Amino acid sequence: MAINIRTDKNYRSESSCTFCNGSHTITGCEVLKTEAETGEKLPFSKRTYRQHYAMQYVEAKANRSKKKASKTRKCGYCGTTGHTRRQCTVMEGDRELLIKANKIWRKLYAHYSIECGFAPASLIRHNEKGAYNYSQSRYEMLEVMYLIGSELPSNLSVFALSSDYSSRQDVGIPAVGRERKLQLQGFLKDADVKTALCGERYWYNTPSPLIITKSTYRYSEEWINGECEDIDFVLKKWNKERVEKDILGVVREKLIPFDIRFEKKRSLRGA
Ligand SMILES: [Zn+2]
Ligand SMILES: [Zn+2]
Repeated sequence: MAINIRTDKNYRSESSCTFCNGSHTITGCEVLKTEAETGEKLPFSKRTYRQHYAMQYVEAKANRSKKKASKTRKCGYCGTTGHTRRQCTVMEGDRELLIKANKIWRKLYAHYSIECGFAPASLIRHNEKGAYNYSQSRYEMLEVMYLIGSELPSNLSVFALSSDYSSRQDVGIPAVGRERKLQLQGFLKDADVKTALCGERYWYNTPSPLIITKSTYRYSEEWINGECEDIDFVLKKWNKERVEKDILGVVREKLIPFDIRFEKKRSLRGA
């Protein structure tokens, strides 16, 4: 912006000091520096107006550069000084935890999708709202059979747990022949499983589908342990406080304790 108002003429024009009128700028004025130093040694009442002015100028300049220095060295992620976001070890720790949490979330998703009937090729029975029945003042309920679609929802990541509206992933389950996707939470009857997969939020009462035939779908290890771009995105954009509040909090308090119980049960079953 400042560049636009510069012309050749004023770009290289002789500078003149607003303090002593010398041919330099006030920033490099030796006269001002001497006046400030002299004023410093005198008691307040003995200082001249010029000395006061010089002293204030020097002090203000020192404050400005101090502020600037500490500002540039502050980490955008954890907020402490001495390193940048790219060198932040706090962020690296959080990244590792998020990567681990994403794998846990996908492993649980894969397991419960078979158990609860939302894996591809599950056959379910679902209650659909039919025509309005005027004599009974209510909707007819129709029982409809659905085959769960073969395509996996594209947003299956740990961010389904996010407490933040803008980053939360709502998982829709495709059903063959049904225009609107079914809601994941409708399949999850157990409250702990629901929290571990969908996070903590207010649920409308969604009708639960009944499983007719469980799917034999196999999720690949590449998918379960695959990368999650959302992690890179939030670690680039958000700070520690927000990551903690919107995702890591629920990971620590809900997902990981749930997974510990899940693995314990699984090893008991295996033994
Ligand atoms: Zn000067
Ligand atoms: Zn940091």
